Amino acid sequence: MSILPPQARALLKSVFGYDDFRPGQAEIIAAVLEGAPVLAVMPTGSGKSMCYQLPAIMEGALTVVVSPLIALMRDQVRQMRALGVSAATLNSMNGADENDEARRAMREGALRLLYVSPERLMMDGLIADLRRARARRLAIDEAHCVSEWGHDFRPEYREIGRASEALGDIQVIGLTATADAATRADIATRLFPSPPQLFLHSFDRPNIALNFALKDQQRRQLARFLERRKGESGIIYCSSRQRTEDLAAYFAEQGYDALPYHAGLDQETRNRNQDRFLREDGIVAVATIAFGMGVNKPDVRFVAHADMPSSVESYYQEIGRAGRDGLPADTLTLYSLDDMAFRRRRIDEKDVSEERRRIEHDRFSALAMLCETPRCRRQTLLAYFAEEAAPCGCCDVCQGKVAVFDGVIPTQKALSAVHRTGQRFGAGHIADVLRGEATDAVRRHGHDAIKTFGVGKEFSKSQWSSIMRQLYAAGALRSASAEHGGFALTAKGEKILFGRETIMLRGEPLTRRERREKTAT
Ligand code: ADP
Ligand code: ZN
Repeated sequence: MSILPPQARALLKSVFGYDDFRPGQAEIIAAVLEGAPVLAVMPTGSGKSMCYQLPAIMEGALTVVVSPLIALMRDQVRQMRALGVSAATLNSMNGADENDEARRAMREGALRLLYVSPERLMMDGLIADLRRARARRLAIDEAHCVSEWGHDFRPEYREIGRASEALGDIQVIGLTATADAATRADIATRLFPSPPQLFLHSFDRPNIALNFALKDQQRRQLARFLERRKGESGIIYCSSRQRTEDLAAYFAEQGYDALPYHAGLDQETRNRNQDRFLREDGIVAVATIAFGMGVNKPDVRFVAHADMPSSVESYYQEIGRAGRDGLPADTLTLYSLDDMAFRRRRIDEKDVSEERRRIEHDRFSALAMLCETPRCRRQTLLAYFAEEAAPCGCCDVCQGKVAVFDGVIPTQKALSAVHRTGQRFGAGHIADVLRGEATDAVRRHGHDAIKTFGVGKEFSKSQWSSIMRQLYAAGALRSASAEHGGFALTAKGEKILFGRETIMLRGEPLTRRERREKTAT
């Protein structure tokens, strides 16, 4: 196992703004920095580019990136430059100036990343220039294109083997999302002078059961979850220090070995609590996200979230502390509209660019969608990491604890009500309009006279609130303004309203009796 220098993590934060590596990245980057030939197979969207970008920045040496698509190369060059990293591309679509400029930057030793199409490699004396520029590494994106076994064989990829031979002493790393063994073996012989170190990464952790619940009575819901796990080790994550203290005290009273952990406790208490968690069985750590870094306990049997995490990445990382021994582990994540508003507010308060803020909102939306998904949780989670999976059979959705229905008609009713009331009212008011309740507010605004007044009597007020929440989570509605909790339509919402997109909705979780009745019929 290679060790990752601490500087790598610091650069991840200072250059890219990310707090943590995605699964798999740290090991691969460590191997790349050691100079080993590396073949990394990771799902699309999992962050493969980072595995050569970060080493290039860190070492201040030139990496040649071979990529099949000019648009992709240009995209990456733009991204790198925006982060202040010197990058350029050489391809047939460039103007002569652009190519000259790239060659000059390379000769001057200023360039960190040179993106080249495979057919360019052996042209115009590039090899000689690369040798002079002491190119350290050849990173081959979509490495499966070299293999006829792969699904998109590109003959020009065969040039890469010749180029790497001509370059002599250069480290080769290949990246692909195609995991199939025959293709892998083919890539290894065609691209690598010696057998590469193979990194195969899937995000699937099949021994971890995923459960979500709408938060209505936080303590009772957690207590019920813990009841079946007396004597087992686990973690309850909270979004505030105060809540970790409150819940730890509550569960201690209930007879659990519950210990609080957050960054506000003095060092000694923190060390003591963490030590006990690591050494003893059956400790429940009630913690903020400060807990977990460096905690590697194989037999953590459950992770609960008392509050919604901040993103799918952090959710994945936090539940990933359970079941490292491969034995079954259970998770429960509580979420609410308040949690969502809290997280959104936190993003709005951050001192970052508008672009960055939009990205963070999008990332959070992905988590909100995971909470409200009518699909298998594992499928939805893995889809976020661009991995396909069959329904897992052990999450709450698969186990039928969540009822799902075709939601187009009720969604159109709700969206139409939002639209016709001027896109600024909250869930309660919209529900009143839909149910035809002529409350003071409804009459004052004349909403008892609009077309959607009373078209939604089939659902209760709380059911309409749930639907509104799901539409918000699914990105069909957005907050109209920060203060009032009002909703407006998004582009996606408009598509559904006009019948160009469909949507599935979930009912409230079924009670145990309803579930029995459902399986009986
Ligand atoms: P791939 O090449 O595997 O398909 P990319 O390298 O294009 O994926 O990365 C996909 C996205 O993930 C990019 O937007 C990238 O910025 C982002 N990303 C990469 N590493 C991290 C990280 N450690 N934390 C958060 N996002 C990351
Ligand atoms: Zn499932």
